[in-house]
Amino acid sequence: MDIGVMFWAGRDDFGEIRSLVDCGQLGIGPGVELTPAFVAQWRDALGDFRLATVVCSFAGESYADVPAVEATVGFIPHSTRAARERRTSEISDFAAALDVPGIGCHIGFVPDDRTDADYIAVRDMVRRVCDHAAAHGQTFALETGQEPAEVLLRFLEDVGRGNLKINFDPANMILYGSGDPIAAFETLAPHVVSVHAKDGDPAPAAFEDQLGTERPLGEGSVDIARFIGALKRRGYHGTVNVEREIDDPRQRMEDIRRAVGLLRGLI
Ligand code: MG
Repeated sequence: MDIGVMFWAGRDDFGEIRSLVDCGQLGIGPGVELTPAFVAQWRDALGDFRLATVVCSFAGESYADVPAVEATVGFIPHSTRAARERRTSEISDFAAALDVPGIGCHIGFVPDDRTDADYIAVRDMVRRVCDHAAAHGQTFALETGQEPAEVLLRFLEDVGRGNLKINFDPANMILYGSGDPIAAFETLAPHVVSVHAKDGDPAPAAFEDQLGTERPLGEGSVDIARFIGALKRRGYHGTVNVEREIDDPRQRMEDIRRAVGLLRGLI
């Protein structure tokens, strides 16, 4: 297992990231233009730093609460579906230009009902994205958390593409109230290609539309030592990427630094 960091172009200081770790995942936000100059800039900056994944987020996404996520995130909203499919393909081309072996994103809440029109449309869209990525020899990883592990597993089987994988985020299972993260990992383990090291506490039971609260690694409800134990038990040998999503850049870097130290002790 290699310790990495999930960081974002234009937001995080890559020099600081690479002083901590030598691998990770690069996030590309919606405002970023994927020009040849941008590709060249990242190729020069990366050097021998190993990117496991290029992650994309989309214009108009909101993680304010559960209804906002349902309405705005990933491939589920109708009005942005075609544009987001194009953007995901462009991200795949960008990753290929940097020789990165995988791409990933949140696809949003997958409906439980397999006959639901949105379920079918998103399943078909994921097949097309997988096929585009496969032409570059890439995996396409879905971020966990917005549905229980069993729903995600059945969706994977329905899509039926060998390069469709999971980016497992144990904190998301807690933030979205989607089940115990360790049990979810055991269910999804054969499909997990990358992991986020993130922590959090659930929302109070009386506020079911609220998301839980992210915490510094080791201070939330994930039980990170038990999670790393589960990764070892299942023979996981991919990257374990610290993810910290708070606005204050200095506090974020400080939390990332401490999380890397914590993981070094556990791994
Ligand atoms: Mg994550």
